[in-house]
Amino acid sequence: MLDGTTAEIRERKALRINPAKTCQPVGAMYAALGIHGCMPHSHGSQGCCAYHRSHLTRHFKEPVIATTSSFTEGASVFGGMSNLTTAMNNIFKIYDPKIIAVHTTCLSEVIGDDIPMIIKKNIADGKIPEGKYVIHANTPSFTGSHVTGFSSMVTGAIKYLAKKEEGVEKKTGKINILPGYVDASDMRELKRLAGELKVPFTMLPDTSDVLDSPQTGVYKMYPKGGTTIEEIQDMGYGKATLACGEFASKAPAIELSRSYDLPFELNRLPIGLKNTDKFVDSLRRLGGVEVPYSLTAERGRLLDFISDMAQYFSGKKVALYGDPDHVIALTEFLVEIGMIPTVVITGTPGKRFVQEVKSIVDPINPEAHIEAYSDIHKLHQIIKNKPVDLLMGNSYGKYVARAEGNIPFVRFGWPIMDRCGHRFFPSVGYRGAMYLLDKIIDQFFDKDDRENPEELVELVL
Ligand code: SF4
Repeated sequence: MLDGTTAEIRERKALRINPAKTCQPVGAMYAALGIHGCMPHSHGSQGCCAYHRSHLTRHFKEPVIATTSSFTEGASVFGGMSNLTTAMNNIFKIYDPKIIAVHTTCLSEVIGDDIPMIIKKNIADGKIPEGKYVIHANTPSFTGSHVTGFSSMVTGAIKYLAKKEEGVEKKTGKINILPGYVDASDMRELKRLAGELKVPFTMLPDTSDVLDSPQTGVYKMYPKGGTTIEEIQDMGYGKATLACGEFASKAPAIELSRSYDLPFELNRLPIGLKNTDKFVDSLRRLGGVEVPYSLTAERGRLLDFISDMAQYFSGKKVALYGDPDHVIALTEFLVEIGMIPTVVITGTPGKRFVQEVKSIVDPINPEAHIEAYSDIHKLHQIIKNKPVDLLMGNSYGKYVARAEGNIPFVRFGWPIMDRCGHRFFPSVGYRGAMYLLDKIIDQFFDKDDRENPEELVELVL
């Protein structure tokens, strides 16, 4: 399919080919699904909503609920206020959510719909039922990516819901964990780690038990998972915030700090040994607890895996792409195990990405190509000129791997639409790191078994 990709790289300014990102509302919709009893609402035309829902469903293999303002020509010309008002009325009546999370689309942003004003008017007109909530985030897709859309919706949830009333002496003692744009399985794993440490926490958002619900034979529009409205309301009374991933979690952490005077620590996503150590250590300090033996043992098992297999990782060249927080943390992990990142790109704009990755890769490979707001086509062209031993990224990379003679390819990040197990196995934490190592090493050994002459096919490694 990509056999025609040329090695000659031409400068492109106004064209992306196979962008390593998607549009902001997808992230906003995903974040909203991590609030318990929430109906994500797409303020735009039906096509946007259908695309965003199906993209999430393809990754999680789960039904994804969302409603739409269903813009037609009228709304496009006169604005979407009437559509949104009708939609809110219908949604509360028919689907009975606890909360509606509205995100905008390109069209409603170009029109300039004032969502806060529309929400306020509906509250003033008594159209929002007692005890129900409507929040919003602006997510035009001509800027940012699904990661910034996610970040905006998490920030929006805090702005609308969290509170700290004057004169109320309340302390929950909880750590607010902002997990970043990670899978439901990752959120489940982060909660497990916090549980092992016995740190009280609120995680926002939390899509575990929403997008990895068990099969019970009974469909539930609002599964049991998700951060509750009460938990979000109390975040301002927490002890501190631990934010994972600068691109997805810095903005909501700043919002909590600015509005409620909460200290925060901003770490990379806990992918790999060092980054998980930092996550555990931050929780240990912020929570004032001791690290239990169970986690020390888990860490030791990961270390054992790395040292046993070090010779197979060492010196291998790797190209990787995807969401900025994922890619930054993964780059650090790959360097940790002795691999050499040669191409590292993200589709999300942001100079910090290049600075962060450069600070990790420069000491071992100053020639590495590191680029933000780039695309998979560019990565492919670079690989054609400088072949790699391993490719890591979302499902779209399989065509690159195939076109280049089946480069060992490990699916990582979002979206993964052509495999299934990823939604159950985390990438974060010590266990997540072991799953990743297992996938990488299997790719190398499978290639050897496939391509080596018979006398070199080893039974025992
Ligand atoms: S890029 Fe804009 S128009 Fe296209 S699906 Fe996303 S929000 Fe809708």
